Amino acid sequence: AEMSAGDLGRSLVNARLFEQERHLVEQLRRLNTAQSEFVSAVSHDLRTPLTSIAGYLELLTEEEAGPITSAQAKMLAVIERNTLRLRMLIEDLLILSRIETGTYDSDKRPVDLAAVVTGALQAIEPTAAKADVTVRAAVHPPLPLRGDPEQLDRMVMNLLSNAVKFTPAGGTVTVEAGQDGAAVVMTVRDTGIGIPEADQELLFGRFFRASNAVRREIPGTGLGLAIVAATVQGHGGVVTVASREGEGSTFTVRLPAGDCA
Ligand code: ADP
Repeated sequence: AEMSAGDLGRSLVNARLFEQERHLVEQLRRLNTAQSEFVSAVSHDLRTPLTSIAGYLELLTEEEAGPITSAQAKMLAVIERNTLRLRMLIEDLLILSRIETGTYDSDKRPVDLAAVVTGALQAIEPTAAKADVTVRAAVHPPLPLRGDPEQLDRMVMNLLSNAVKFTPAGGTVTVEAGQDGAAVVMTVRDTGIGIPEADQELLFGRFFRASNAVRREIPGTGLGLAIVAATVQGHGGVVTVASREGEGSTFTVRLPAGDCA
């Protein structure tokens, strides 16, 4: 077939654009890998000194370390609390880098999600009480599935702690978990600040924080939901969000039911 000069020109331009695009994609991919490696290296390096700090903190509060005043004990408690926060943050970073390098392996076995949710509800209770947020729950055991109990626990805790964190005093968090045919379904609903529509589709990306959370200076890293999404995906499930800014949010997790025995 013959090509006119115009056609030839256009296809040359197209080939060049295609080449440029490929080049850009390759550069982005490299940047992405570099970022993952950086996050992984930093979180590993942070872990060692922090373990030492936590160890000495523990020794300090033991009797052999000698008497401390009650004012000092209060200060130590603050240091302990913040050391724990740092540890959790570093842990999240490590998990994120594992997700990105494809090494966030799960150790799947029969699990009752009802037990996981009940445990998480107990764990969140003191935080909710302190924030004056009421937690209601309707959990229908057994909710059998095949999964990694530790990863599932982290996933549920992330959703619960977000719900409490983003709900002002006097609000309510409602947790429901039950079986729906071949699926195990958990919903976490809150009466909190909600999520602006424009932010909803970006919510499960790493480091993403919605504009209203940033504006209100509610602390966070934007790692929790990325870990939630990876865990749910890794278990063959789906997580979705429905929310209205200023009214509240509902997160729904659907996982394939399996044998619990
Ligand atoms: P973090 O809570 O550390 O900021 P997450 O990844 O858990 O990170 O959540 C990402 C963002 O999604 C939050 O910063 C917040 O803007 C929004 N978000 C998550 N859960 C809720 C919720 N229950 N109510 C309102 N906003 C939420």
